[in-house]
Amino acid sequence: MPFVGGNWKMNTDLASSVELADDIVAGCAAFVDRCDVAVFPPFPYLQVVGRTLGHHGILLGAQDVCHMPAGAYTGEVSVDMLLDLNVKVVLVGHSERRHVIGETDDLINAKVLAVLDAGLDVVLCVGETLEQRESGRTKEVNVHQLMAGLRAVTPDSMEQVTIAYEPVWAIGTGRTAGPDQAAEVHRVLRASIGDLYDDDISESIRLQYGGSVKAKDAAGLFARPEIDGGLIGGASLDPEQFKAIVAAAVDAASQEQE
Ligand code: PEP
Repeated sequence: MPFVGGNWKMNTDLASSVELADDIVAGCAAFVDRCDVAVFPPFPYLQVVGRTLGHHGILLGAQDVCHMPAGAYTGEVSVDMLLDLNVKVVLVGHSERRHVIGETDDLINAKVLAVLDAGLDVVLCVGETLEQRESGRTKEVNVHQLMAGLRAVTPDSMEQVTIAYEPVWAIGTGRTAGPDQAAEVHRVLRASIGDLYDDDISESIRLQYGGSVKAKDAAGLFARPEIDGGLIGGASLDPEQFKAIVAAAVDAASQEQE
């Protein structure tokens, strides 16, 4: 089953987050038996968005989490707080947190372990910058981020893990990796997961692509068997675009089964 997530980043306000969640339920609830769909609203709106999503099967996600369980960590949000709000899945290692906030591989790994330990699912994001791509380091950077993020993650926990390949040069820039470029990195990531774990895990793990995906790009990307869904930023703020992207994931999955 494919997996499409909508990362709202630091957008919406109280009223518009509810409106967007309502529209996403109206557009996407019919697909949740054929595609996992998650939305990642800003922390302050998690509760109200969770209520709006209700029991229609769209998953509530968090954009980040603290690696520590509780205590004197001003401004942070713990896994238990997310569990209280019925969050099911957490983004970790998004490029904006790596490159704007300055999160390290070690911190990202600690967050992955905290999320898994709490029984939540994690979407671990990896991706190279333009400079890294142009200097021929795409494979090395992605494999490094993958291995560092998954350090000490047991094979049993891997069913809670999704990897999102998000080239930094494509995020929020309007530049999308073409299906061939994305599929090439997905093959590298899947092979590394096979080396780290085993063939079953590397075949069953879902690899999302993210980076300026719009409805018009979705069918081409999702037609590639290497790509199991998408992590969508800007286009997830438009319920019609988001619905079309989810529908494209469902179509591609049904064609793969034929
Ligand atoms: C993202 O935030 O993960 C993302 C891919 O953003 P955008 O689709 O806007 O590039």
